[in-house]
Amino acid sequence: HDTLTGLPNRAGLQKQLVAELQLARDNKSKGAILFIDLDDLKTINDTMGHSAGDEVIITTSRHIVAIMGKKAFVARIGGDEFVVILPGCDDKAMISDLADIAIQALSQEYLIAGKHLHMSASIGIALYPKDSSTIEDALKNADNAMYAAKRAGRNCWRFYEPSLQEEAFEKIVLTNSLRRALVQNEFSLYFQPVASTHGSRIVGFEALLRWKSPEHGNVPPDRFIPFAEQSGLILPIGNWVLQESCRFARQIADLGFSHLHISVNISPRQLAADDFVATVRASIARAGIDARQLDLEVTESTLISSMEESVDKLIKLRNLGVNVALDDFGTGYSSLTYLRRLPVNTLKIDKSFIDTILDDATQLRFVGFIIAMAHSLDLTVVAEGVENKEQLTCLAQVGCDCIQGYLFSPPVPESEAILKLR
Ligand code: C2E
Ligand code: CA
Ligand code: CA
Repeated sequence: HDTLTGLPNRAGLQKQLVAELQLARDNKSKGAILFIDLDDLKTINDTMGHSAGDEVIITTSRHIVAIMGKKAFVARIGGDEFVVILPGCDDKAMISDLADIAIQALSQEYLIAGKHLHMSASIGIALYPKDSSTIEDALKNADNAMYAAKRAGRNCWRFYEPSLQEEAFEKIVLTNSLRRALVQNEFSLYFQPVASTHGSRIVGFEALLRWKSPEHGNVPPDRFIPFAEQSGLILPIGNWVLQESCRFARQIADLGFSHLHISVNISPRQLAADDFVATVRASIARAGIDARQLDLEVTESTLISSMEESVDKLIKLRNLGVNVALDDFGTGYSSLTYLRRLPVNTLKIDKSFIDTILDDATQLRFVGFIIAMAHSLDLTVVAEGVENKEQLTCLAQVGCDCIQGYLFSPPVPESEAILKLR
């Protein structure tokens, strides 16, 4: 038994599952396995101490036991993980009702040490023997479904589906290959020019990561960055991107282009790292470049998760001379209130906004409004994903400062980028 909650622990669960799945194989039983994971326990442990976290766990375990009923077997198998076996119950409608009630009961305010804390949970559900005939499969499937619930935005439940297994498999396989990618030199950077809207002069480049894997071929960043982010591998990889970008900045400065900016995409986990400011400073120093050559691109969602800390770090970086750009503007909250508070110099309007400016006069006026607003805050505006001349003409009319997109150039290898400069 688990000493904190008095519930069976992982070993207890294992025993029960062996018995239950044996019955299922003999056609004497069927049922459901629920994997319940609390969403933000780590934050509570980190900010309020472990005794606060313990209180949350005890309260949660009582809720779960009460909701799941007498016939249920409830175990606590890890810090914030519970597993419930519902023997005899494989009616999806009934199980989803139970899961709804559990989500509602667990996503609430807790009063702990005089503070109101908001908690929520994610639940994955697998049926047996339908989805799984072995213990390993049963737990793995419920766990996969739980991750699907997390991906769907947390605070919800999901049933296991075979396609989840493929997704989970892809994640494991790609993450394993990613672990070796850095030492095996499989990464490279491509550079996409950013040009002035008037006169089409190159004002800088955005560094975009490329991965050529011996096992998987060319893997696009949208596919592997999320896995690098989840596994923490984004820290060494992001560090490499920073160093390589600064080295490239140095190279073009040596060719007489020290006024050009190199933009580097920064992911949430990088910005959250305690040593982020020091890491950036070290990359700049190592390459011997002027900090003003470096732009860091962050998205709104990166900033929102821990606003105060992020803003603090970005201000430190700006004091060094580094520029900050708000990437993908228009896809997130795009709140004007905090745009004023953010230490950014540049606004990058997302491609999805630019795509429709030719179809619709309202859309173009809207983009024009964003640009005017950005200018009133002294921000430079870059339009992303500009693919044709007509879009360029429209953007010039509404005062857009810079453009980036296939019209001017796709991302190209370093040597080609230098040729374009010349
Ligand atoms: P992003 O920062 O919005 O980068 C722009 C993406 O749009 C790039 O895709 C670029 O190739 C593409 N693009 C540029 N112009 C056009 C155009 O005219 N038409 C179309 N259809 N696409 C255009 P890419 O290189 O596949 O990168 C995708 C995303 O991956 C990036 O979006 C960025 O969020 C992420 N990423 C790339 N490199 C890094 C990196 O080094 N670190 C981190 N954290 N993220 C990166
Ligand atoms: Ca970007
Ligand atoms: Ca972007």
